[in-house]
Amino acid sequence: MNVILNAGREKSLQRRHPWIFSGGIKHADANIASGSTVDLLSSDKQFLARASYPPNSQIRARVWTFEDEVVDKEFFRRKIQSSLFTRQKLNVESQSDSYRLIYAESDNIPGLIVDRYNDVLVLQSLTAGSEYWKETFADLLIEETGLSTIYERSDADVRELEGLEPKVGLLRGDLSSFVFPITENNLQFQVNLAEGHKTGFYLDQRKNRLRVRELAKDKDVLDCFSYTGGFTINALAGGAKSVLSVDSSGDALELCKENIALNNLPADKHTSLEGDVFQLLRKFRDEARSFDMIILDPPKFAPTAAHAEKATRAYKDINLLAFKLLRPGGLLVTFSCSGGIDAGLFQKIVAGAALDAGVDAQIVEHLSQGADHPIALNFPEGAYLKGLVCLKK
Ligand code: SAH
Repeated sequence: MNVILNAGREKSLQRRHPWIFSGGIKHADANIASGSTVDLLSSDKQFLARASYPPNSQIRARVWTFEDEVVDKEFFRRKIQSSLFTRQKLNVESQSDSYRLIYAESDNIPGLIVDRYNDVLVLQSLTAGSEYWKETFADLLIEETGLSTIYERSDADVRELEGLEPKVGLLRGDLSSFVFPITENNLQFQVNLAEGHKTGFYLDQRKNRLRVRELAKDKDVLDCFSYTGGFTINALAGGAKSVLSVDSSGDALELCKENIALNNLPADKHTSLEGDVFQLLRKFRDEARSFDMIILDPPKFAPTAAHAEKATRAYKDINLLAFKLLRPGGLLVTFSCSGGIDAGLFQKIVAGAALDAGVDAQIVEHLSQGADHPIALNFPEGAYLKGLVCLKK
């Protein structure tokens, strides 16, 4: 099947960006099955790339290859082997038994996310193209990793844009329990594969949690949007004087308490509060409470650039309040995981928050997603996690 692009629309492909939007298409053959493989041709019918094609999505084609090569099981075996090779080179297994094995476009396999949790693989298929090849991916993952269990967590909202229903359940092998502990930098965390966020855990924050461990000694720490305690547990392990975890999910806070016990950390130094961070920060300000370290790791307020304005206000609000609650000499560890907010804008938002809070602060560190979430040079959209450590003077 062939898809012909409008004149000039081959430019992004020549830079090896993997997406073609619906407006770029001049002609598509009739009856292309959703997610099946098509040839992308320039307006003068030259071969440009081979891609998956969802007939109704805004992102109308996602490139599998820029070469004139067969897209079949062996093609994907080479892709998967290449992703595994990246992780081996990074030596991630020495830090954790759980890490991202395949990161979609960033590993040149659009739509496919595979996370490893101990001996279980969790697969998330986000696009019609990855859905089309899902069974092949599952077979290849078993063959190439030597593991036997794959759990599917294809329940992300973005699937809707590709006309796909949510799908959750076992794809291969069996699982005695959905909840089990993983080890990350010598600490243990219970993950819940069936009900946890994303594929179960925020694996992208691994090295930043370790950094918090190094910085937390003797500090009163406020961990906002704590989830199951990724930062909380590390702060306690690093010798924090006290840690207060805030999250709107009672279940996540329960798992956080379990994680404290699992690691034999001092429960008497920990408090958790179920509630809305926006409201609680205001309450703390009114009560004149203060902290030595505040972590802000909110959910993505701006999935795309279209949400950037509203998201900017939300980020500014929490960062401004956090700057006020920090003691002089205190550290703000603040993140955005919004694709729609780039690193420059995030830095401006945090700078504006400090200014409006009347605080003198400097950036002492830039943080980013872990190396098991690589960024393809042709796909800067893969760099979604931006973090700053700011020191209040
Ligand atoms: N820091 C965590 C990940 C945070 S994910 C880690 O390292 O694992 C974002 C969290 O924010 C989720 O747990 C979600 O329940 C919570 N959340 C979302 N909106 C919130 C709000 N308005 N107030 C409090 N928590 C919120």
